Amino acid sequence: MKKIFAANWKLFKTPQETREFFAQFKELANKATGEVVFFPSAISLEAASESLKGTSIKFGAQNCYSQASGAFTGENSAQVVKALGGTYILIGHSERRKIFGEDDTQIAEKVAFVQGLGLTPMLCIGETLEEREATHTFRVLETQLMLGLAKADKSKPLVVAYEPVWAIGTGKVASPEQVAETHTDVHSILNKMGFGSVAILYGGSVKPDNAANLVKQAHVSGFLVGGASLEVKSFAEIASV
Ligand code: PEP
Repeated sequence: MKKIFAANWKLFKTPQETREFFAQFKELANKATGEVVFFPSAISLEAASESLKGTSIKFGAQNCYSQASGAFTGENSAQVVKALGGTYILIGHSERRKIFGEDDTQIAEKVAFVQGLGLTPMLCIGETLEEREATHTFRVLETQLMLGLAKADKSKPLVVAYEPVWAIGTGKVASPEQVAETHTDVHSILNKMGFGSVAILYGGSVKPDNAANLVKQAHVSGFLVGGASLEVKSFAEIASV
């Protein structure tokens, strides 16, 4: 399966900073060993679109609403992302779930809507530290996948990002053994649900010094990277493992 290296910029980088990043990153992009995808904040999407024209680097939004347009003040439209040339939408990131109260029902609507538009949803799942310590990880991930993909089309592109909540932005990366074990579980849940070949990315404090080991683990098809994707050199290094 092809590798995917995705960058979640959260609420960082102005349009100008976005242009400056890509001016440098494009020079290094040929070293990437898989597909590279950027998720800038919504207001910088147009700058990303302009900067990436004519390259094979992909981009998309960090969230969207489950309808293309209408009286939905403050939401992002996946149709606008598509019009800008974007091809991915990140859905159900743990910050969306925790800070903005997104639930699996809304997430399922978004996944189906995005697939219907011909874009690729990148669905984020992951357990909290309490859930892991209580040995509920498998059950939590199975529930998030079953509910979040309840309306998904099995014949359309889909990417899953496994991101243990306790590893996001904390510097506490999951061990290679934990990553291998959990990715194997996610792979088998997806298989049981009838989703054939889905890329499963790992996310949570991925850095240039741990990426090479993590990417070798079972059923790891690449990474979703937050903090380390904000700097050209560190993300280019991660994308070249
Ligand atoms: C993320 O935001 O999805 C993420 C994995 O962040 P970080 O790499 O900073 O842990």
